[in-house]
Amino acid sequence: MNSATFKGGTHPFEGKSLSENSEIRFAEFSGDYVFPMSQHIGAPAKPCVNVGDHVLAGQKIGEAQGFISADVISSVSGTVKKVEPRMQVSGQPQMSVVIESDGKFETVSGIGEMNDWQSFSKDDIRKAVKDAGITGMGGAGFPTYVKLMPKDDEAIDYFIANGSECEPYLTSDYRLMMEEGEKIVAGLKICLMLFPNAKGVVAIEDNKPKAIAHMTELCKGEQRIEVRALKTKYPEGGERQLINAVTGRYINSSMLPADVGAIVDNVATIIAIYEAVALSTPLMEKVITITGDAVAEPSNLRVRIGSSYKDALLFVGGLKKEAKKVICGGPMMGQALFDLDVPVTKPSSALCVFEHDEVAEKPTTPCIRCARCVNACPEFLVPPMMVKAATNGDLEGFEALNGMECMECGTCSYVCPARRPLTQIFKQARKMVMNKRRVEAAEKRQREELERIASEAAEAARAAALERLK
Ligand code: SF4
Ligand code: SF4
Repeated sequence: MNSATFKGGTHPFEGKSLSENSEIRFAEFSGDYVFPMSQHIGAPAKPCVNVGDHVLAGQKIGEAQGFISADVISSVSGTVKKVEPRMQVSGQPQMSVVIESDGKFETVSGIGEMNDWQSFSKDDIRKAVKDAGITGMGGAGFPTYVKLMPKDDEAIDYFIANGSECEPYLTSDYRLMMEEGEKIVAGLKICLMLFPNAKGVVAIEDNKPKAIAHMTELCKGEQRIEVRALKTKYPEGGERQLINAVTGRYINSSMLPADVGAIVDNVATIIAIYEAVALSTPLMEKVITITGDAVAEPSNLRVRIGSSYKDALLFVGGLKKEAKKVICGGPMMGQALFDLDVPVTKPSSALCVFEHDEVAEKPTTPCIRCARCVNACPEFLVPPMMVKAATNGDLEGFEALNGMECMECGTCSYVCPARRPLTQIFKQARKMVMNKRRVEAAEKRQREELERIASEAAEAARAAALERLK
């Protein structure tokens, strides 16, 4: 197999065998469901229900605010118990709607109704996607309808269904390709209706030969869709790396994929597009992987958005060993979790629980200048110099070294023999630069406002003086 790839990257232990053969099971829970108003990039949604309201599954409970935002849809029927900040995976509280499920899961009327989507106009498709509250389900959470509205539909020549799932241990996308591949093909056909010059590419890492064979079979006879095998290498599924591997084009952090004629959506997002457009079904569920060597029964579960990770873990039998490390997401880019009672959201992908914390268990030693991090960085950065600038508090130096191009992929930390916490340092430095930019922008706005007031005052004084001279 001649698999496409990008420059740099690494090949961490895959760990997928723990759950890759676990068919998706539906797991439903009683009790409270928590719906954060910001499950996406952009402005948080605004709660549009009040405490005491009775809601149905499929009902909008959070209204998108502004262009880059997304509606939040209830996945259960029940009573709104609270509208208040609740703890999230990030460790930060965030405004949320808490619904006490009545256990009936009654939906608003019309959900599940089949549509003649082939006759839909572009506006119909985009509206269905927007109303369904769909955001990227592969991690970033970018509002999908915004992605489907590039400046020029004709300029898009690649629509990529991201099935690479390069994060170790994660298998939910693999299971979706194996079990719901037809929906991916139909969803891709819907997306291609928006972009007349685009070809659809289902991109899959070559460590999933069964998914490649299955999707290839499903795409037989589809003139505009092909399946492309990618080399198994982390972070092959990163948007920039994927675009490069499939099209040979590069984007940086200040560009959108559409700037190089590409749109990328995760396979789960494409299924959500299909369900919204063809089955009048908003985004209410998420397939996640619950895995790791401490988990009793590593599994792929379909859960209602708003469910707690704690319930999902109990559903698969809880832990069989004492856990030393709990990660929300995959081990490369996921976030350490200290409280399992946080909700599954639209971009959630996995819960990984391990009996060892290799990072904490082995000491960090000084840099030996081996340059492994430099060779592995998929963004062609120089991590040792960036670390020096960041730890010296030299944010300008960090920016000058293109530190803001870092996608926090974790590759440099993974390959570093000295176990330097490179990615954590870059994460912190990037946050500080973004805060600095925010403060500078606010100061600039304030300065401009003061200048405007001063100029208006001067103008008024001049007019008054002229008036007096008359
Ligand atoms: S975390 Fe940043 S610096 Fe490290 S390999 Fe990834 S992109 Fe490069
Ligand atoms: S991989 Fe680690 S030890 Fe090697 S140059 Fe990079 S930071 Fe230094």
